[in-house]
Amino acid sequence: MSENPSPTLWRRYLNFPLIWKMVIALVGGVAAGLGIAALGLQDTLLPILDPLGEIFLRLLQMVIFPLIVTTLIAGVTSISPKRLGRIGTKIVAFYMVTSAFAVTLGLSIALLVSPGAGLSMPGEPAEAEDVPPVSETLLGIIPANPFEALTEGNVLAVMFCALLFGLALAFMMDSENDAHRDLALLLRRGVEGAMELVFKVIGGILQYAPIGVFALIAVVMAETGFDAIGPLLKLTGVVYGAIILQVVVYLVIMLPFRVRVGRFLVAAKDPVLTGFVTRSSSGTLPVSTRAAERMGVKEGVYGFTLPLGSAINMDGTAIYVGAATVFVANITGVELTLGQIATVVLIGVLASIGTAGVPGAGLLMLSMTITSVGLPMAPVALVAGIDAVLDMARTAGNVAGDLVGTRLVAGSEEGMFQDPDDPAGPEADASATGPDTAPTETSTEPSAPEPPVAADGASVGTRDVT
Ligand code: ASP
Repeated sequence: MSENPSPTLWRRYLNFPLIWKMVIALVGGVAAGLGIAALGLQDTLLPILDPLGEIFLRLLQMVIFPLIVTTLIAGVTSISPKRLGRIGTKIVAFYMVTSAFAVTLGLSIALLVSPGAGLSMPGEPAEAEDVPPVSETLLGIIPANPFEALTEGNVLAVMFCALLFGLALAFMMDSENDAHRDLALLLRRGVEGAMELVFKVIGGILQYAPIGVFALIAVVMAETGFDAIGPLLKLTGVVYGAIILQVVVYLVIMLPFRVRVGRFLVAAKDPVLTGFVTRSSSGTLPVSTRAAERMGVKEGVYGFTLPLGSAINMDGTAIYVGAATVFVANITGVELTLGQIATVVLIGVLASIGTAGVPGAGLLMLSMTITSVGLPMAPVALVAGIDAVLDMARTAGNVAGDLVGTRLVAGSEEGMFQDPDDPAGPEADASATGPDTAPTETSTEPSAPEPPVAADGASVGTRDVT
């Protein structure tokens, strides 16, 4: 059986970098689709290509719920409630508020630009779903029956349950009661194992992704011709533009706290570029850590805020989810209702917690959002084709967000920031002269706690989701 040449071919396929396989699939799909259209072979070839693309979409949908449940529980339990003192509260609040702002920014710009306008996805009737009012959507977050929420595909309700159970587990892990703590640690190990399993499955699915993307793009191109290229370029412009705007907002936020923006930018340049190139905020962690140190942030802050940020703070990804959801709505001719928009914002924030800082994780988050607002999944394939390009910008945005939060929190805590240009000067910078400067207990804050187990498990930064 070792004479069979196919295993070697398969090995070669597996070893070939996924990002290139996706690029080849994208270009090949475009060429094949245009060729099919030019030769008028739609009736013969599309019935073969269609199911090949559908398989990819179904596989993506299949892993959404296992992924949400495991990564959210792991994410929440990575913060020990005890450690979630003043620094924790500040940084978590910063991460949540900026994520909500980011997803709103992505949504708003995309709603203004309508990146998907002019393109309609073949085979998908532009049917507006019956969307319940906002109050009902919010109430629907608390499921009467979590299993029903799972079978109904209610993403928000499942996220709510995972968060609640995750928090309870975090408290159990911190319990004084030895038996409870042991059980909780066992459960946590189980969740970690399950998460690894889910990532293994995703890894396998993604080996199929190039075939799925090829088929889906070819079908779109065969039916729409060059019409899809303009909208995709527009979407890329919206995502990049919104991320740049978000960075400008960060800089403006820092001004009243008297952060030396020029110095911050010089120090942040390396990690942001690394994030852009590696497409992994978890993988960028060592570079971010060095940058925080160079800025003058003390380990007691960055040792906690940066690993946490790489696991639960994804502003660039939140922007992408907002913009791409509008793109999909445009293509399917659906006018997003206020309730759907509110759902996207909520999911953007919650999924920020549940998304691993690894390449391509945002695509799964997008699939999850699209499912939860009742939009058809088919246009997601178009976005998947250019996902790597979007991932670069959003990862850079994610890394920048973590650094801004870290710098601001360090500046607000006495003894946690030392201006590198002024080593003899007061330890805390001007922003620490707030109401908190009085006798502070922060210096006794556990210094440099070991980094929390990141939401994506042990092999942080090594996993490639697309
Ligand atoms: N690649 C991103 C990150 O590591 C996550 C994403 O895919 O949006 O931060």
